[in-house]
Amino acid sequence: MTTPESLTFRSDVTVELVKSSASDADVLFAARVSTAGEQSLDELKKDPERSKGLINFLMRDRHGSPFEHNSMTFFISAPIFVFREFMRHRVGWSYNEESGRYRELQPVFYVPDESRKLVQEGRPGKYVFVEGTPAQHEAVTGALRESYEQAYTAYQKMLADGVAREVARAALPVGLYSSMYATCNARSLMHFLGLRTQHELAKVPSFPQREIEMVGEKMEAEWAKLMPLTYAAFNANGRVAP
Ligand SMILES: Cc1cc2nc3c(=O)[nH]c(=O)nc-3n(C[C@H](O)[C@H](O)[C@H](O)COP(=O)(O)OP(=O)(O)OC[C@H]3O[C@@H](n4cnc5c(N)ncnc54)[C@H](O)[C@@H]3O)c2cc1C
Repeated sequence: MTTPESLTFRSDVTVELVKSSASDADVLFAARVSTAGEQSLDELKKDPERSKGLINFLMRDRHGSPFEHNSMTFFISAPIFVFREFMRHRVGWSYNEESGRYRELQPVFYVPDESRKLVQEGRPGKYVFVEGTPAQHEAVTGALRESYEQAYTAYQKMLADGVAREVARAALPVGLYSSMYATCNARSLMHFLGLRTQHELAKVPSFPQREIEMVGEKMEAEWAKLMPLTYAAFNANGRVAP
């Protein structure tokens, strides 16, 4: 049985781009079928300024479907409460998550670090988060660790008593880390980023929970490298998905 000493506490999330077929040219060739029929990808590279202008026009006027002809698969490790929020994004997303039925869940738990703002001020929909005091950080760390230790000990005891993993996992909290593959396209990613990140260029501000925003920021960095023109047009047009 795992003893409480063997629990791992983390404050980060990880995002790895494991597979992609995504470039600005994918947007252009899909868009130009409207006027030019089938084209080669080389043809599209001939006039970069025109390409940039076309992508910007599509974004500005919300012609969204040309941004769907591409694919990115991410491997994400984050607490379960992040995945609860993440999987609300239904359109243009495919998910596969590790199973608590088929494998024993590992004792890795989320504890926010000192950079995590702890105190909410204002009313829902119009609140801000401000720094916690050192005493509040200590209280959060202590309470979470204690609760995780109790929960994981109960989980392990049930498994040792011969109870099925799918039943014993009910004792585990949403601060437990999970992992999943998430596949999307640029359009569905933009919709996600518009809602799950805060950004000075956003025309419609959102107020996401910091932990899912951390995931979003890492995905955004990977996507920006793959599709720089599309990414620039997204920012230039207020970070609203077309
Ligand atoms: C800051 C924030 C706070 C939130 N708080 C809560 C909360 O308190 N409680 C809660 O339950 N959820 C909450 N959510 C989740 C939110 O309501 C959405 O479920 C989530 O953001 C996914 O957005 P979406 O439905 O637009 O995305 P997707 O499911 O990916 O859908 C994309 C788009 O497709 C269209 N679409 C998809 N499904 C339908 C449908 N059935 N009918 C018509 N059009 C459809 C819509 O245009 C939609 O915008 C919150 C989200 C954010 C960002």
